Amino acid sequence: MPILEVKNIKKSFGPLEVLKQISFEVNKNDCIAVIGPSGSGKSTMLRSLVHLDELDGGSVSVNGNYIVKDGVYSKPQQVKQITSNMGMVFQHFNLFPHLTVIENLELAPKLLKQNDSAQTRQLSMELLEKVGLSDKADVLPSKLSGGQKQRVAIARALMRKPEILLFDEPTSALDPELTGEVLRVMKDLAEDDMTMVVVTHEMEFAKDVANKAIFMDKGEIVETGSPVDLLSNPQMERTKAFLSRTL
Ligand code: ADP
Ligand code: MG
Repeated sequence: MPILEVKNIKKSFGPLEVLKQISFEVNKNDCIAVIGPSGSGKSTMLRSLVHLDELDGGSVSVNGNYIVKDGVYSKPQQVKQITSNMGMVFQHFNLFPHLTVIENLELAPKLLKQNDSAQTRQLSMELLEKVGLSDKADVLPSKLSGGQKQRVAIARALMRKPEILLFDEPTSALDPELTGEVLRVMKDLAEDDMTMVVVTHEMEFAKDVANKAIFMDKGEIVETGSPVDLLSNPQMERTKAFLSRTL
C-alpha cells in the first residue's frame, strides 16, 4: 500500500480551477520531484495534503487513513492526527524570529506536551547536528544566512518524526551560493530513506536524488516518469515547452 494516496483532488479559488482531478501515489522511500511553471498549482497541491488548503473534491489518505474522502473531510481530530505524520518545509522558512534556533525546534512539542523536555532537548540537538548547525542552537534566526535558516526549518520539520516530508521550493528564496548546503541536507535525508515530495526548479537535484518526477501545468499532472527520462526526454509538448524555457 502506498504511504500517501491522492485521488482526483480538485480545488478552485473563485472561478479559477487550480487543481483539476489530480491523482498520484507516494510509496515508502520515494523522493518525488514536482516541477512545473509558476501558477500551475504546485503549492496548493502540497498545502492541501496537510490541510493548509481545503479541497473541493477528491481523496487524500495516509496509510489508508483518509484526511478527505470523495470531498468529505474526516473529523478535525482525525485530520490533525493524520497530518501530524507529515512535515512541511516552506520557501520562506517561516521560523519564529523572536525564538532562538532551538526554541523554534522545541516549540511544537512543548505546546503539544508530547515529550518531556529533556527528550525534546536531546532530539533537537540531534537534529541540529544532522543539519550541521549544532553550534547555532542559541542564536536568533536573524543571525543566520538563508541557507542556515532553511536547514533549521528542515530540522524543525523533522521534530515530529514525520513519515513524509513535503518541500515547497526550499531553495527558491536563497542566493545561488547557499542552495548547495540545503540540497545536500535534502539528499542526506533521501539517502536515509526519508519519504519526500519536493516541489523544485533544481533539475540537477531531481535527476540526482529523486526516483520519480511529476510535471504539473495549469492544475493538471501532464506527465510523470523517472526524473532522467522526464527531464531529458519529455514526451508531452507542454513538458518540452517548459523545459526548453528553463534549461
Ligand atoms: P504554484 O505553486 O505552482 O506557483 P500556486 O498553487 O501557488 O501555484 O497557485 C496556483 C494558482 O492559484 C495561481 O493562479 C494563484 O494565483 C492562485 N492562488 C493560490 N492561492 C490562492 C488564494 N489563497 N486565493 C486566490 N488564488 C490563489
Ligand atoms: Mg508555489
